Amino acid sequence: MQFEPVIGLEVHAQLSTNSKMFCSCANQFGSAPNDQVCPVCLGLPGALPKANHKAIEYAIMLGLATNCQIRFDSEFARKNYFYPDLPKAYQISQFDKPICEHGWVEIETKAGTKRIGITRIHMEEDAGKLVHEGQDPNASYVDLNRAGVPLLEIVSEPDIRNSEEAKAYMEKIHAYVTYLGICNGDMEKGNLRCDANVSIRPVGEPKFGTRTETKNLNSFRNVALAIDFEIARQTDAVLDGAKIVQETRLWDGNLNQSRSLRTKEDSHDYRYFPCPDLPVVRFTPGLVESLKAKLPELPDQKRDRFIQEYGLSHYDASLLTVNKAVSHYFEEATALGANAKAVTNWINGDMARLFNETKTQIEDSKITPAALAKMLARIEDGTISSKIAKTIFEGMFQTGKDPDQLIDEQGLRQVSDEGAIREAVMKVIAANPGQLAEYRSGKDRLFGFFVGQVMKETKGKGNPAVINQWVKELLDQG
Ligand code: ADP
Ligand code: MG
Ligand code: ZN
Repeated sequence: MQFEPVIGLEVHAQLSTNSKMFCSCANQFGSAPNDQVCPVCLGLPGALPKANHKAIEYAIMLGLATNCQIRFDSEFARKNYFYPDLPKAYQISQFDKPICEHGWVEIETKAGTKRIGITRIHMEEDAGKLVHEGQDPNASYVDLNRAGVPLLEIVSEPDIRNSEEAKAYMEKIHAYVTYLGICNGDMEKGNLRCDANVSIRPVGEPKFGTRTETKNLNSFRNVALAIDFEIARQTDAVLDGAKIVQETRLWDGNLNQSRSLRTKEDSHDYRYFPCPDLPVVRFTPGLVESLKAKLPELPDQKRDRFIQEYGLSHYDASLLTVNKAVSHYFEEATALGANAKAVTNWINGDMARLFNETKTQIEDSKITPAALAKMLARIEDGTISSKIAKTIFEGMFQTGKDPDQLIDEQGLRQVSDEGAIREAVMKVIAANPGQLAEYRSGKDRLFGFFVGQVMKETKGKGNPAVINQWVKELLDQG
């Protein structure tokens, strides 16, 4: 039997406001435990929360950017549960009246462009953290610096069908929040994180199957790995005749597998009700209009501009613009005169491969846009061939050295000197009398053999155009 996966993602984005969601404590990472707390975020009785205007504006901005409808009567609600990192025993969140609803984003995969629906975007506060590496190895410590930090939860429709789409969707959300400057997008620090809901159903079945939710996905790679793991696990289970139980699972990035954490709660378990401490979030249409007018260039607009301005394909332009830093890198290199298509190919090709292999990203790149532009200029002016450029590029990637320096150090300057190449061609012809005779008796395809031998003779540094010209001339001479 064939199964079709159905996937919906819940993405949490930590907002980069100066203060927390409902109090004036600093929203900052890295201070000493419990240094950024007050009666409100400690949940002391009688303390009253006050909503952060900036966080509300950020929510509206993301909603506008992702084609959502903005609610003018949005409400905060209490989500009740007990956990040591949640001193109030409820989280202030939003329930049936979230600030943004009914949006969508466009993703790009090898299969093409697809729209993924956004059910809702709501505002909520983060919980604190339990620390298990304190003085006493048998104790758990509570750090409430993160308690009350503003979050947006972006809930997708179950429109995603495989891990590649899920990764592309996550990258697109990352693009929106970073282009808007409302979240730094640092997934390693958990500032952008994702829970993946996965179910499977027989192909052709209109009803959805029972879903599980895998938590703690803090990289694009883990999102994809966890989804593939879960699809395989559920498929095996169903083929074995087992039933899928609705549960919350936890991803272990070291073992590359997830394990069951608890059976999943339904929303009624949380006893949601409107938070009596906070008024309905009301604002005028004028606020929404003015935020709309101030939106920066967004990923899709930039993609379309790259297509227009540089003649790139939809796919290439999407790949470049889905990461803000990559799109800047591209623009810097082309502003220095580098050919747009060549820059694109190096970024999406060798550079992407090396980032992948070294688990690094563009922010870590030792190759500056200027160095890449210079290397491309050396291909164009004939100093190096595009084949040698691959070696130079790897050297630049590892050492951050200037391409000219590497070319000289490694003696990789392309040989275009006619005399030297002519000599190499003569040497190769003299060493291969059999092939020469065959070629002259009509075996044209041996031409490539001679070019290859001369390339070898010049240690890959011969200028291909000059080699071709001399091979032709000397072979046809006899
Ligand atoms: P909860 O708080 O219970 O996790 P949410 O509404 O916040 O519920 O999120 C549910 C997520 O699960 C959404 O992203 C939705 O698209 C997805 N989803 C719902 N049903 C299924 C299903 N059968 N299979 C996979 N994903 C699903
Ligand atoms: Mg949820
Ligand atoms: Zn506080």
